[in-house]
Amino acid sequence: HVSPHLSGPEHWHKDFPIAKGERQSPVNIDTKTAKHDPSLKPLCLCYEQPTSRRILNNGHSFNVEFDDSQDTAALKGGPLDGTYRLIQFHFHWGSSDGQGSEHTVDKTTYAAELHLVHWNTKYKDFGKAVEQPDGLAVLGIFLKIGSANPGLQKVLDMLDSIKTKGKSSDFTGFDPRGLLPKNLDYWTYPGSLTTPPLLECVTWIVLKEPISVSSEQMSKFRQLNFNFEGEPEELMVDNWRPAQPLKNRQIKASFK
Ligand SMILES: [Zn+2]
Repeated sequence: HVSPHLSGPEHWHKDFPIAKGERQSPVNIDTKTAKHDPSLKPLCLCYEQPTSRRILNNGHSFNVEFDDSQDTAALKGGPLDGTYRLIQFHFHWGSSDGQGSEHTVDKTTYAAELHLVHWNTKYKDFGKAVEQPDGLAVLGIFLKIGSANPGLQKVLDMLDSIKTKGKSSDFTGFDPRGLLPKNLDYWTYPGSLTTPPLLECVTWIVLKEPISVSSEQMSKFRQLNFNFEGEPEELMVDNWRPAQPLKNRQIKASFK
């Protein structure tokens, strides 16, 4: 099977017809049309004892993986019923600072987007959860060019050790709370995974407040490779899917 960047997003529908489905992600967030929903609860990012295990270059991004055998890092509240456990986070980014996020806000793109992926513990495991319409909750956080982000540096310092596809390193003791902005105001809508198999299993929660990243930090992401070791170098850049049609969906805002 050809890797997603070679057979890009515009070709995915041939192998994954759901690419043209009714609740695909990402989307553009039109801030004027998003409606404040006073019934939305505050988000609980209950990251009490997050246990990172490993960092892995999977050939489309890199995942920082967590021990998800207990509720030690959970997402609750907001639009969610029940408890969603953190399993991994990853990023999407561009070939330059002017692009890279998957969601856009009034058509504005950011340099990168962080996805913290959580699965609904009413299902047995992540694999079962992705088959359900309420299986996952992904917290999306924009990265905006500005000052260097100290919370990100430990991750970036690992990237030399996982340059090519399939490489992984032990990565324990990383606390993702250092990646969160102060304000947890959010938009939410029902959507999908943004990479194949594009399953429509995600409640998206996209934070309004971006976190900062320096241009120098962004260049570190772009040193990663899509290819396996020993293959011709293809820089891992522009691993984002463009905005998909909103169709019959409403984006709700937690704030006025
Ligand atoms: Zn993602």
